[in-house]
Amino acid sequence: GNLGNTCFMNSSVQCLSHAYPLTRYFLTNEYLDDINESNPLGTKGNLARAYDTVLKELYWSNQSYINPTQLKRSIALFQPRFAGYSQEDAPEFLAYLLDGLHEDLNRIKSKPYITLPDAEKYQNVRIAGAEAREADRRRNCSVLRDNFYGQYQSTCVCPTCKQVSVTFDPFNVLNVHLPMEVTRTIQIAVVKKNTSDVWGIDPVRYGVKVSSTSSIENLIDGLSELCGISAENLALCDVHEFRICDVYIDMDEKVSKIHSNDLLVAYEVEDPNTISTIVTHHAFLADGQIFPMGVPLYCTFRPEMTCLEVREYLWCQVRRMVREKGDQDVNSTRLVIRVVNNKGKPIDTSGKTGGGKERDPTLGNVDPSLLPSSSSITLNDLLGEDCVDNYFFLHIEWTDGPWKGIFDSDAMMRCTNHSSLNANVYGLSLDQCLSNFTKPERLDEHNKYYCSKCKTHVQAMKTIKLCQLPNILVIHLKRFEFKSTFRRNKLDTFIDCPINGLDMSRHCRQNKGKDCNDIIIDEIPAVYDLFGVTNHYGRMGFGHYTACCRQWDDSGMGEDWSLFDDSNVTEMDETNVITPAAYVLFYRRRIFA
Ligand SMILES: [Zn+2]
Repeated sequence: GNLGNTCFMNSSVQCLSHAYPLTRYFLTNEYLDDINESNPLGTKGNLARAYDTVLKELYWSNQSYINPTQLKRSIALFQPRFAGYSQEDAPEFLAYLLDGLHEDLNRIKSKPYITLPDAEKYQNVRIAGAEAREADRRRNCSVLRDNFYGQYQSTCVCPTCKQVSVTFDPFNVLNVHLPMEVTRTIQIAVVKKNTSDVWGIDPVRYGVKVSSTSSIENLIDGLSELCGISAENLALCDVHEFRICDVYIDMDEKVSKIHSNDLLVAYEVEDPNTISTIVTHHAFLADGQIFPMGVPLYCTFRPEMTCLEVREYLWCQVRRMVREKGDQDVNSTRLVIRVVNNKGKPIDTSGKTGGGKERDPTLGNVDPSLLPSSSSITLNDLLGEDCVDNYFFLHIEWTDGPWKGIFDSDAMMRCTNHSSLNANVYGLSLDQCLSNFTKPERLDEHNKYYCSKCKTHVQAMKTIKLCQLPNILVIHLKRFEFKSTFRRNKLDTFIDCPINGLDMSRHCRQNKGKDCNDIIIDEIPAVYDLFGVTNHYGRMGFGHYTACCRQWDDSGMGEDWSLFDDSNVTEMDETNVITPAAYVLFYRRRIFA
Protein backbone atom coordinates (compact mmCIF):
# COMPACT_ATOMS: atom_id res chain seq x y z
CA GLY A 1 0.00 0.00 0.00
CA ASN A 2 0.87 3.63 -0.15
CA LEU A 3 3.03 4.51 2.78
CA GLY A 4 3.11 8.17 1.96
CA ASN A 5 6.29 10.12 2.23
CA THR A 6 8.54 8.32 4.70
CA CYS A 7 11.87 10.02 4.05
CA PHE A 8 11.53 11.69 7.47
CA MET A 9 11.73 8.16 8.95
CA ASN A 10 14.52 7.02 6.69
CA SER A 11 16.74 10.02 7.46
CA SER A 12 16.07 9.80 11.21
CA VAL A 13 16.82 6.07 11.32
CA GLN A 14 19.99 6.59 9.23
CA CYS A 15 21.31 9.00 11.86
CA LEU A 16 20.15 6.85 14.78
CA SER A 17 21.75 3.75 13.24
CA HIS A 18 25.09 5.58 13.50
CA ALA A 19 24.66 5.75 17.30
CA TYR A 20 27.11 2.95 17.93
CA PRO A 21 26.10 1.73 21.44
CA LEU A 22 22.46 1.25 20.42
CA THR A 23 23.30 -0.42 17.10
CA ARG A 24 25.76 -2.82 18.73
CA TYR A 25 23.12 -3.68 21.34
CA PHE A 26 20.71 -4.73 18.57
CA LEU A 27 23.14 -6.38 16.17
CA THR A 28 24.51 -8.60 18.97
CA ASN A 29 20.93 -9.53 19.97
CA GLU A 30 21.68 -8.37 23.49
CA TYR A 31 18.38 -6.50 23.34
CA LEU A 32 16.39 -9.77 23.34
CA ASP A 33 17.16 -10.25 27.05
CA ASP A 34 15.66 -6.86 27.86
CA ILE A 35 12.38 -6.97 25.94
CA ASN A 36 9.67 -5.96 28.36
CA GLU A 37 6.38 -7.50 27.21
CA SER A 38 4.44 -6.46 30.29
CA ASN A 39 5.09 -2.73 30.21
CA PRO A 40 1.72 -1.05 29.52
CA LEU A 41 3.59 2.01 28.19
CA GLY A 42 5.39 -0.07 25.55
CA THR A 43 4.33 -2.09 22.48
CA LYS A 44 5.06 -5.55 23.96
CA GLY A 45 8.39 -5.52 22.15
CA ASN A 46 6.93 -4.92 18.68
CA LEU A 47 8.73 -1.63 18.16
CA ALA A 48 12.08 -3.02 19.39
CA ARG A 49 11.78 -6.01 17.03
CA ALA A 50 10.79 -3.78 14.10
CA TYR A 51 13.76 -1.52 14.75
CA ASP A 52 16.00 -4.60 14.94
CA THR A 53 14.76 -5.74 11.50
CA VAL A 54 15.45 -2.33 9.99
CA LEU A 55 18.95 -2.18 11.49
CA LYS A 56 19.88 -5.65 10.29
CA GLU A 57 18.64 -4.83 6.78
CA LEU A 58 20.76 -1.69 6.80
CA TYR A 59 23.87 -3.41 8.10
CA TRP A 60 23.73 -6.88 6.66
CA SER A 61 21.88 -6.69 3.34
CA ASN A 62 23.85 -3.84 1.74
CA GLN A 63 20.58 -2.00 1.57
CA SER A 64 20.87 1.73 2.07
CA TYR A 65 17.17 2.49 2.24
CA ILE A 66 14.93 1.25 5.03
CA ASN A 67 11.58 -0.38 4.47
CA PRO A 68 9.58 1.48 7.09
CA THR A 69 6.31 -0.51 6.93
CA GLN A 70 6.74 -2.51 10.11
CA LEU A 71 8.50 0.27 11.98
CA LYS A 72 5.69 2.64 11.10
CA ARG A 73 3.02 0.16 12.22
CA SER A 74 4.85 -0.50 15.47
CA ILE A 75 5.37 3.11 16.37
CA ALA A 76 1.67 3.71 15.61
CA LEU A 77 0.89 1.20 18.39
CA PHE A 78 2.79 3.48 20.72
CA GLN A 79 1.73 6.80 19.19
CA PRO A 80 -1.47 6.41 17.10
CA ARG A 81 -0.83 9.68 15.26
CA PHE A 82 1.88 7.94 13.23
CA ALA A 83 -0.72 5.58 11.73
CA GLY A 84 -1.63 8.17 9.09
CA TYR A 85 -0.01 8.61 5.72
CA SER A 86 0.86 12.27 6.05
CA GLN A 87 4.44 13.33 6.38
CA GLU A 88 5.32 13.82 9.99
CA ASP A 89 8.05 15.79 11.60
CA ALA A 90 11.45 14.09 11.97
CA PRO A 91 12.31 15.38 15.48
CA GLU A 92 8.89 14.39 16.82
CA PHE A 93 9.20 10.96 15.25
CA LEU A 94 12.65 10.54 16.74
CA ALA A 95 11.54 11.53 20.26
CA TYR A 96 8.66 9.01 20.07
CA LEU A 97 10.92 6.30 18.65
CA LEU A 98 13.42 6.74 21.50
CA ASP A 99 10.63 6.79 24.11
CA GLY A 100 8.97 3.73 22.56
CA LEU A 101 12.23 1.78 22.38
CA HIS A 102 12.96 2.72 25.97
CA GLU A 103 9.59 1.43 27.20
CA ASP A 104 9.97 -1.80 25.18
CA LEU A 105 13.44 -2.37 26.61
CA ASN A 106 12.89 -1.07 30.15
CA ARG A 107 14.56 -3.53 32.53
CA ILE A 108 12.26 -2.43 35.36
CA LYS A 109 9.37 -4.87 35.13
CA SER A 110 7.36 -3.36 37.93
CA LYS A 111 7.77 0.37 38.46
CA PRO A 112 7.76 1.43 42.12
CA TYR A 113 5.42 4.26 43.00
CA ILE A 114 7.53 7.15 44.23
CA THR A 115 6.38 10.52 45.51
CA LEU A 116 8.89 13.25 46.06
CA PRO A 117 8.27 16.51 47.91
CA ASP A 118 7.93 19.53 45.62
CA ALA A 119 11.38 20.54 44.50
CA GLU A 120 10.98 24.06 45.91
CA LYS A 121 10.45 22.55 49.38
CA TYR A 122 14.05 21.34 49.40
CA GLN A 123 16.69 23.45 51.11
CA ASN A 124 18.92 22.77 48.18
CA VAL A 125 17.82 22.52 44.55
CA ARG A 126 20.85 20.39 43.82
CA ILE A 127 19.63 17.67 46.16
CA ALA A 128 16.12 17.92 44.72
CA GLY A 129 17.55 17.33 41.24
CA ALA A 130 19.65 14.38 42.36
CA GLU A 131 16.65 12.80 44.12
CA ALA A 132 14.46 13.30 41.07
CA ARG A 133 17.14 11.58 39.00
CA GLU A 134 17.40 8.71 41.46
CA ALA A 135 13.61 8.26 41.52
CA ASP A 136 13.61 8.19 37.72
CA ARG A 137 16.40 5.57 37.72
CA ARG A 138 14.29 3.28 39.93
CA ARG A 139 11.48 3.38 37.37
CA ASN A 140 13.44 3.58 34.13
CA CYS A 141 16.54 1.60 33.25
CA SER A 142 17.53 0.82 29.67
CA VAL A 143 20.27 1.24 27.08
CA LEU A 144 18.23 4.15 25.74
CA ARG A 145 18.10 5.81 29.17
CA ASP A 146 21.85 5.27 29.66
CA ASN A 147 22.77 6.91 26.38
CA PHE A 148 20.11 9.28 25.05
CA TYR A 149 18.50 10.89 28.09
CA GLY A 150 19.58 13.95 30.01
CA GLN A 151 17.78 15.97 32.62
CA TYR A 152 16.81 19.59 32.79
CA GLN A 153 15.35 21.77 35.47
CA SER A 154 12.45 24.08 34.63
CA THR A 155 11.73 26.99 36.94
CA CYS A 156 8.43 28.82 36.52
CA VAL A 157 7.66 32.07 38.30
CA CYS A 158 4.03 33.22 38.46
CA PRO A 159 3.83 36.89 37.38
CA THR A 160 0.96 37.55 39.85
CA CYS A 161 1.88 35.87 43.14
CA LYS A 162 5.59 35.28 42.38
CA GLN A 163 5.27 31.65 43.42
CA VAL A 164 8.23 29.63 42.20
CA SER A 165 7.80 26.10 40.92
CA VAL A 166 10.71 23.84 40.06
CA THR A 167 10.43 20.60 38.10
CA PHE A 168 13.00 18.14 36.80
CA ASP A 169 12.35 16.35 33.53
CA PRO A 170 14.23 13.85 31.44
CA PHE A 171 14.72 14.72 27.75
CA ASN A 172 15.95 12.83 24.70
CA VAL A 173 15.74 15.63 22.12
CA LEU A 174 16.80 19.16 22.98
CA ASN A 175 14.41 21.57 21.23
CA VAL A 176 16.32 24.77 20.54
CA HIS A 177 14.62 27.95 19.30
CA LEU A 178 16.20 30.02 16.56
CA PRO A 179 15.92 33.79 16.75
CA MET A 180 13.51 35.12 14.09
CA GLU A 181 15.74 37.91 12.90
CA VAL A 182 19.44 37.32 12.68
CA THR A 183 22.11 39.69 11.55
CA ARG A 184 25.09 38.19 9.84
CA THR A 185 28.09 39.55 8.05
CA ILE A 186 28.72 38.23 4.56
CA GLN A 187 32.25 38.51 3.21
CA ILE A 188 32.61 39.67 -0.37
CA ALA A 189 35.85 40.35 -2.24
CA VAL A 190 35.48 43.24 -4.67
CA VAL A 191 37.55 43.17 -7.86
CA LYS A 192 37.68 46.73 -9.18
CA LYS A 193 38.07 47.47 -12.85
CA ASN A 194 41.69 48.48 -13.41
CA THR A 195 42.54 51.18 -15.89
CA SER A 196 45.76 51.48 -17.87
CA ASP A 197 47.26 54.23 -15.67
CA VAL A 198 47.78 51.96 -12.64
CA TRP A 199 49.67 48.68 -12.68
CA GLY A 200 46.92 46.96 -10.72
CA ILE A 201 45.03 46.98 -7.44
CA ASP A 202 44.45 43.87 -5.33
CA PRO A 203 40.84 42.89 -4.59
CA VAL A 204 39.42 44.27 -1.33
CA ARG A 205 37.40 42.11 1.05
CA TYR A 206 34.36 43.74 2.65
CA GLY A 207 31.96 42.56 5.35
CA VAL A 208 28.34 43.38 4.51
CA LYS A 209 25.80 43.20 7.35
CA VAL A 210 22.47 41.69 6.35
CA SER A 211 19.50 40.19 8.16
CA SER A 212 18.19 36.69 7.60
CA THR A 213 15.32 38.11 5.53
CA SER A 214 17.52 40.25 3.25
CA SER A 215 17.57 39.72 -0.51
CA ILE A 216 20.54 39.58 -2.87
CA GLU A 217 19.55 43.11 -3.91
CA ASN A 218 19.89 44.32 -0.28
CA LEU A 219 23.28 42.61 -0.10
CA ILE A 220 24.57 44.29 -3.27
CA ASP A 221 23.19 47.68 -2.15
CA GLY A 222 25.03 47.27 1.16
CA LEU A 223 28.23 46.38 -0.65
CA SER A 224 27.80 49.32 -3.03
CA GLU A 225 27.66 51.72 -0.08
CA LEU A 226 30.87 50.29 1.35
CA CYS A 227 32.95 50.14 -1.82
CA GLY A 228 31.58 53.16 -3.69
CA ILE A 229 30.77 51.31 -6.92
CA SER A 230 27.15 51.73 -8.00
CA ALA A 231 25.05 48.61 -7.49
CA GLU A 232 24.22 48.20 -11.19
CA ASN A 233 27.93 47.95 -12.00
CA LEU A 234 28.52 45.11 -9.54
CA ALA A 235 28.24 41.50 -10.68
CA LEU A 236 28.09 39.11 -7.72
CA CYS A 237 29.56 35.66 -8.31
CA ASP A 238 30.09 32.48 -6.35
CA VAL A 239 33.64 31.18 -6.79
CA HIS A 240 34.54 27.57 -6.13
CA GLU A 241 37.95 26.04 -6.78
CA PHE A 242 39.19 29.01 -8.83
CA ARG A 243 36.15 28.99 -11.11
CA ILE A 244 33.02 31.10 -11.21
CA CYS A 245 30.26 28.59 -10.58
CA ASP A 246 27.29 30.91 -10.15
CA VAL A 247 26.36 34.47 -11.09
CA TYR A 248 23.62 35.97 -8.92
CA ILE A 249 21.03 37.29 -11.34
CA ASP A 250 17.78 36.97 -9.37
CA MET A 251 17.84 40.03 -7.10
CA ASP A 252 14.81 38.83 -5.10
CA GLU A 253 16.52 35.66 -3.90
CA LYS A 254 17.20 35.52 -0.16
CA VAL A 255 20.69 35.73 1.29
CA SER A 256 19.88 32.62 3.34
CA LYS A 257 20.99 30.56 0.33
CA ILE A 258 24.55 31.84 0.83
CA HIS A 259 26.55 29.51 3.07
CA SER A 260 29.22 30.73 5.43
CA ASN A 261 31.93 28.90 3.49
CA ASP A 262 30.94 30.26 0.07
CA LEU A 263 33.56 32.49 -1.55
CA LEU A 264 31.75 35.51 -2.95
CA VAL A 265 33.43 37.85 -5.40
CA ALA A 266 31.82 41.00 -6.81
CA TYR A 267 33.24 42.39 -10.05
CA GLU A 268 33.02 45.95 -11.25
CA VAL A 269 31.65 45.74 -14.79
CA GLU A 270 31.17 48.34 -17.54
CA ASP A 271 27.76 47.58 -18.87
CA PRO A 272 25.82 44.69 -17.39
CA ASN A 273 23.75 44.19 -20.57
CA THR A 274 26.54 43.18 -22.92
CA ILE A 275 28.56 40.00 -23.44
CA SER A 276 29.33 38.50 -20.02
CA THR A 277 32.78 37.01 -20.04
CA ILE A 278 34.12 34.49 -17.55
CA VAL A 279 37.89 34.17 -17.42
CA THR A 280 39.72 31.39 -15.58
CA HIS A 281 43.47 31.33 -14.93
CA HIS A 282 45.42 28.16 -15.60
CA ALA A 283 48.98 27.27 -14.73
CA PHE A 284 50.99 25.11 -17.12
CA LEU A 285 53.90 23.32 -15.51
CA ALA A 286 56.96 22.12 -17.36
CA ASP A 287 55.93 18.48 -16.81
CA GLY A 288 52.67 19.06 -18.68
CA GLN A 289 50.42 19.46 -15.64
CA ILE A 290 47.61 22.00 -15.93
CA PHE A 291 45.57 23.36 -13.06
CA PRO A 292 43.21 26.29 -12.44
CA MET A 293 44.46 28.95 -10.04
CA GLY A 294 43.89 32.44 -8.69
CA VAL A 295 40.78 34.57 -8.60
CA PRO A 296 38.79 34.21 -11.83
CA LEU A 297 37.55 37.29 -13.69
CA TYR A 298 34.14 38.41 -14.77
CA CYS A 299 33.92 41.21 -17.35
CA THR A 300 31.43 42.57 -19.83
CA PHE A 301 32.34 43.46 -23.42
CA ARG A 302 30.38 45.22 -26.12
CA PRO A 303 30.09 43.02 -29.24
CA GLU A 304 31.81 45.66 -31.42
CA MET A 305 34.99 45.59 -29.30
CA THR A 306 37.98 44.27 -31.21
CA CYS A 307 40.02 41.31 -30.05
CA LEU A 308 42.93 43.66 -29.40
CA GLU A 309 40.79 45.86 -27.15
CA VAL A 310 39.65 42.78 -25.22
CA ARG A 311 43.26 41.67 -24.82
CA GLU A 312 44.36 45.13 -23.60
CA TYR A 313 41.44 45.27 -21.16
CA LEU A 314 42.25 41.84 -19.72
CA TRP A 315 45.92 42.75 -19.44
CA CYS A 316 45.00 45.73 -17.24
CA GLN A 317 42.99 43.41 -14.98
CA VAL A 318 45.56 40.62 -14.63
CA ARG A 319 48.92 42.35 -14.69
CA ARG A 320 48.87 42.83 -10.90
CA MET A 321 49.90 39.16 -10.94
CA VAL A 322 53.06 40.15 -12.81
CA ARG A 323 55.91 42.05 -11.15
CA GLU A 324 56.15 45.55 -12.53
CA LYS A 325 59.51 46.00 -14.21
CA GLY A 326 59.01 49.26 -16.06
CA ASP A 327 59.99 47.12 -19.00
CA GLN A 328 58.12 47.91 -22.21
CA ASP A 329 58.60 44.32 -23.25
CA VAL A 330 56.24 43.02 -20.55
CA ASN A 331 52.92 43.78 -22.19
CA SER A 332 49.63 42.28 -23.29
CA THR A 333 51.16 40.36 -26.21
CA ARG A 334 52.63 37.85 -23.77
CA LEU A 335 49.16 36.78 -22.61
CA VAL A 336 48.01 33.43 -23.91
CA ILE A 337 44.21 33.66 -24.05
CA ARG A 338 42.17 30.71 -25.22
CA VAL A 339 38.54 30.78 -26.32
CA VAL A 340 36.64 27.90 -24.73
CA ASN A 341 33.05 26.73 -24.37
CA ASN A 342 31.13 26.59 -21.08
CA LYS A 343 32.70 23.18 -20.38
CA GLY A 344 36.22 24.58 -20.80
CA LYS A 345 36.82 22.86 -24.16
CA PRO A 346 38.75 24.96 -26.75
CA ILE A 347 36.69 26.43 -29.59
CA ASP A 348 38.18 26.63 -33.09
CA THR A 349 37.68 30.25 -34.18
CA SER A 350 39.94 30.15 -37.26
CA GLY A 351 36.99 29.95 -39.68
CA LYS A 352 35.81 33.38 -38.55
CA THR A 353 39.18 35.07 -38.38
CA GLY A 354 40.59 34.34 -41.81
CA GLY A 355 42.48 31.18 -40.98
CA GLY A 356 44.64 32.79 -38.35
CA LYS A 357 46.39 35.24 -40.71
CA GLU A 358 45.94 38.01 -38.19
CA ARG A 359 47.47 36.08 -35.35
CA ASP A 360 50.52 37.15 -33.48
CA PRO A 361 53.31 35.02 -34.95
CA THR A 362 55.00 34.62 -31.55
CA LEU A 363 52.00 32.62 -30.33
CA GLY A 364 52.12 30.23 -33.24
CA ASN A 365 49.59 30.14 -36.04
CA VAL A 366 48.78 26.51 -35.57
CA ASP A 367 46.54 26.88 -32.54
CA PRO A 368 43.07 27.84 -33.81
CA SER A 369 41.45 28.41 -30.40
CA LEU A 370 43.69 31.26 -29.22
CA LEU A 371 42.23 34.76 -29.06
CA PRO A 372 43.77 36.77 -31.92
CA SER A 373 45.52 40.12 -31.31
CA SER A 374 43.70 41.70 -34.20
CA SER A 375 42.41 45.26 -34.27
CA SER A 376 40.03 44.44 -37.10
CA ILE A 377 38.25 41.34 -35.78
CA THR A 378 35.42 42.19 -33.41
CA LEU A 379 33.90 39.93 -30.76
CA ASN A 380 30.83 39.76 -32.95
CA ASP A 381 32.94 38.36 -35.84
CA LEU A 382 34.68 35.96 -33.52
CA LEU A 383 31.73 34.57 -31.64
CA GLY A 384 28.75 34.64 -33.95
CA GLU A 385 26.48 31.85 -32.85
CA ASP A 386 29.08 30.50 -30.40
CA CYS A 387 28.07 33.12 -27.88
CA VAL A 388 25.42 31.10 -26.08
CA ASP A 389 23.08 33.24 -23.98
CA ASN A 390 25.56 36.12 -24.22
CA TYR A 391 28.16 34.21 -22.20
CA PHE A 392 31.74 34.03 -23.43
CA PHE A 393 34.44 31.90 -21.79
CA LEU A 394 38.19 32.43 -21.83
CA HIS A 395 41.20 30.77 -20.26
CA ILE A 396 44.37 32.68 -19.55
CA GLU A 397 47.30 30.28 -19.63
CA TRP A 398 50.38 31.05 -17.58
CA THR A 399 53.35 29.03 -18.76
CA ASP A 400 56.78 29.11 -17.25
CA GLY A 401 58.52 30.28 -20.43
CA PRO A 402 57.29 33.85 -20.99
CA TRP A 403 56.55 34.52 -17.30
CA LYS A 404 59.60 33.01 -15.64
CA GLY A 405 60.83 35.27 -12.85
CA ILE A 406 58.14 37.90 -13.29
CA PHE A 407 54.97 35.99 -12.43
CA ASP A 408 54.06 36.79 -8.82
CA SER A 409 52.29 33.72 -7.44
CA ASP A 410 51.57 35.44 -4.11
CA ALA A 411 49.58 38.14 -5.89
CA MET A 412 47.15 35.56 -7.29
CA MET A 413 45.08 35.24 -4.13
CA ARG A 414 46.16 38.45 -2.40
CA CYS A 415 43.37 40.51 -0.91
CA THR A 416 43.20 43.66 1.22
CA ASN A 417 40.84 43.54 4.20
CA HIS A 418 38.43 46.42 4.65
CA SER A 419 37.54 47.62 8.18
CA SER A 420 33.93 46.48 7.71
CA LEU A 421 35.11 42.93 8.32
CA ASN A 422 34.81 41.70 11.86
CA ALA A 423 34.79 38.41 13.69
CA ASN A 424 31.08 37.78 13.27
CA VAL A 425 31.14 36.41 9.75
CA TYR A 426 29.62 33.01 10.28
CA GLY A 427 26.04 34.02 10.96
CA LEU A 428 24.55 32.54 14.06
CA SER A 429 26.40 29.91 16.04
CA LEU A 430 24.89 26.90 17.76
CA ASP A 431 26.43 28.26 20.97
CA GLN A 432 24.33 31.42 20.63
CA CYS A 433 21.15 29.35 20.11
CA LEU A 434 21.97 27.24 23.17
CA SER A 435 22.55 30.36 25.28
CA ASN A 436 19.08 31.49 24.21
CA PHE A 437 17.75 28.13 25.34
CA THR A 438 18.80 28.78 28.94
CA LYS A 439 17.58 32.40 29.05
CA PRO A 440 14.34 33.15 30.94
CA GLU A 441 11.38 33.35 28.56
CA ARG A 442 7.78 34.42 29.03
CA LEU A 443 5.45 31.55 28.10
CA ASP A 444 3.18 32.46 25.19
CA GLU A 445 -0.64 32.42 24.93
CA HIS A 446 -0.73 28.83 23.70
CA ASN A 447 1.55 27.44 26.34
CA LYS A 448 0.43 28.82 29.71
CA TYR A 449 1.44 27.50 33.10
CA TYR A 450 -1.06 26.55 35.83
CA CYS A 451 -0.33 28.39 39.07
CA SER A 452 -1.59 26.29 41.98
CA LYS A 453 -1.80 29.33 44.26
CA CYS A 454 -3.71 31.62 41.87
CA LYS A 455 -5.67 28.61 40.56
CA THR A 456 -5.45 29.84 36.99
CA HIS A 457 -3.27 29.57 33.88
CA VAL A 458 -0.70 32.33 33.66
CA GLN A 459 2.03 33.45 31.27
CA ALA A 460 4.82 32.56 33.67
CA MET A 461 8.50 33.32 33.27
CA LYS A 462 10.19 30.01 32.57
CA THR A 463 13.89 29.25 32.85
CA ILE A 464 15.42 25.99 31.72
CA LYS A 465 18.74 24.75 33.02
CA LEU A 466 20.51 21.63 31.83
CA CYS A 467 21.48 19.49 34.83
CA GLN A 468 22.64 16.28 33.25
CA LEU A 469 23.85 15.68 29.72
CA PRO A 470 23.47 12.42 27.80
CA ASN A 471 26.21 10.50 26.01
CA ILE A 472 24.38 10.99 22.74
CA LEU A 473 22.93 14.46 22.48
CA VAL A 474 20.19 15.06 19.91
CA ILE A 475 19.54 18.73 19.15
CA HIS A 476 16.48 19.86 17.21
CA LEU A 477 16.89 23.28 15.59
CA LYS A 478 13.33 24.60 15.63
CA ARG A 479 13.10 25.90 12.08
CA PHE A 480 9.30 25.90 12.08
CA GLU A 481 7.82 28.80 13.98
CA PHE A 482 4.23 28.57 15.10
CA LYS A 483 2.19 31.30 13.36
CA SER A 484 -1.37 30.02 13.57
CA THR A 485 -3.07 26.65 13.59
CA PHE A 486 -2.55 26.25 9.85
CA ARG A 487 0.56 28.21 9.24
CA ARG A 488 4.12 27.62 10.26
CA ASN A 489 7.00 29.70 8.99
CA LYS A 490 10.28 28.07 8.16
CA LEU A 491 13.56 29.73 9.13
CA ASP A 492 16.35 28.95 6.69
CA THR A 493 18.97 30.62 8.86
CA PHE A 494 22.45 29.14 8.61
CA ILE A 495 23.49 27.95 12.06
CA ASP A 496 27.20 27.39 12.45
CA CYS A 497 27.43 24.04 14.27
CA PRO A 498 30.82 22.66 15.26
CA ILE A 499 31.68 19.33 13.63
CA ASN A 500 34.22 18.59 16.35
CA GLY A 501 34.41 19.91 19.88
CA LEU A 502 30.98 21.29 20.80
CA ASP A 503 31.51 22.36 24.42
CA MET A 504 28.26 22.02 26.37
CA SER A 505 29.73 22.79 29.79
CA ARG A 506 28.94 26.50 29.58
CA HIS A 507 25.26 25.69 28.98
CA CYS A 508 24.97 23.55 32.11
CA ARG A 509 24.34 24.41 35.71
CA GLN A 510 27.66 23.98 37.39
CA ASN A 511 29.01 24.30 40.85
CA LYS A 512 30.27 27.86 40.85
CA GLY A 513 31.95 27.80 44.26
CA LYS A 514 29.82 29.45 46.93
CA ASP A 515 26.43 29.09 45.28
CA CYS A 516 25.36 25.85 46.92
CA ASN A 517 22.07 25.98 45.06
CA ASP A 518 23.81 25.09 41.85
CA ILE A 519 23.90 21.55 40.66
CA ILE A 520 27.25 19.89 40.25
CA ILE A 521 27.30 18.02 37.01
CA ASP A 522 29.71 15.15 36.68
CA GLU A 523 33.36 15.99 36.33
CA ILE A 524 33.53 14.45 32.87
CA PRO A 525 34.16 17.08 30.19
CA ALA A 526 31.03 17.87 28.19
CA VAL A 527 32.73 17.96 24.79
CA TYR A 528 30.86 16.51 21.83
CA ASP A 529 31.56 15.57 18.21
CA LEU A 530 28.94 15.53 15.47
CA PHE A 531 28.12 12.20 13.81
CA GLY A 532 24.76 12.78 12.15
CA VAL A 533 22.60 15.52 10.66
CA THR A 534 19.02 15.25 9.43
CA ASN A 535 18.39 17.89 6.76
CA HIS A 536 15.02 19.30 5.78
CA TYR A 537 14.33 20.96 2.44
CA GLY A 538 11.14 22.77 1.49
CA ARG A 539 7.99 23.44 3.45
CA MET A 540 6.41 21.71 6.41
CA GLY A 541 4.51 18.65 5.25
CA PHE A 542 5.80 18.84 1.67
CA GLY A 543 9.50 18.78 2.22
CA HIS A 544 12.29 16.33 1.60
CA TYR A 545 14.66 14.87 4.16
CA THR A 546 18.25 13.70 3.76
CA ALA A 547 20.90 12.61 6.27
CA CYS A 548 24.67 13.11 6.61
CA CYS A 549 26.43 10.58 8.84
CA ARG A 550 29.82 9.24 9.81
CA GLN A 551 30.73 6.00 11.57
CA TRP A 552 32.28 5.70 15.00
CA ASP A 553 32.94 3.05 17.61
CA ASP A 554 35.00 2.46 20.77
CA SER A 555 38.19 3.27 18.89
CA GLY A 556 37.01 6.75 17.93
CA MET A 557 35.25 8.90 15.38
CA GLY A 558 35.56 8.26 11.65
CA GLU A 559 36.44 11.04 9.24
CA ASP A 560 34.45 10.06 6.16
CA TRP A 561 30.96 11.47 5.77
CA SER A 562 28.18 9.92 3.69
CA LEU A 563 25.08 11.59 2.31
CA PHE A 564 21.90 9.49 2.42
CA ASP A 565 19.29 10.81 -0.01
CA ASP A 566 16.44 8.31 -0.37
CA SER A 567 18.14 5.21 -1.76
CA ASN A 568 21.29 7.04 -2.89
CA VAL A 569 24.41 7.05 -0.77
CA THR A 570 27.31 9.27 -1.78
CA GLU A 571 30.53 10.34 -0.12
CA MET A 572 30.62 13.94 0.93
CA ASP A 573 33.09 16.53 2.10
CA GLU A 574 33.03 17.52 5.78
CA THR A 575 32.74 21.21 4.81
CA ASN A 576 29.32 20.52 3.23
CA VAL A 577 27.82 18.76 6.25
CA ILE A 578 26.33 21.86 7.90
CA THR A 579 24.02 23.87 5.63
CA PRO A 580 20.90 26.01 6.19
CA ALA A 581 18.95 22.72 5.85
CA ALA A 582 20.45 21.20 9.04
CA TYR A 583 17.45 20.30 11.19
CA VAL A 584 18.35 17.60 13.74
CA LEU A 585 21.93 17.20 15.00
CA PHE A 586 23.39 14.04 16.56
CA TYR A 587 26.38 14.58 18.83
CA ARG A 588 28.48 12.02 20.68
CA ARG A 589 30.16 12.82 23.97
CA ARG A 590 33.91 12.24 23.71
CA ILE A 591 34.07 10.61 27.13
CA PHE A 592 30.92 8.79 28.13
CA ALA A 593 29.32 9.59 31.46
ZN1 LIG B 1 0.27 32.67 41.00
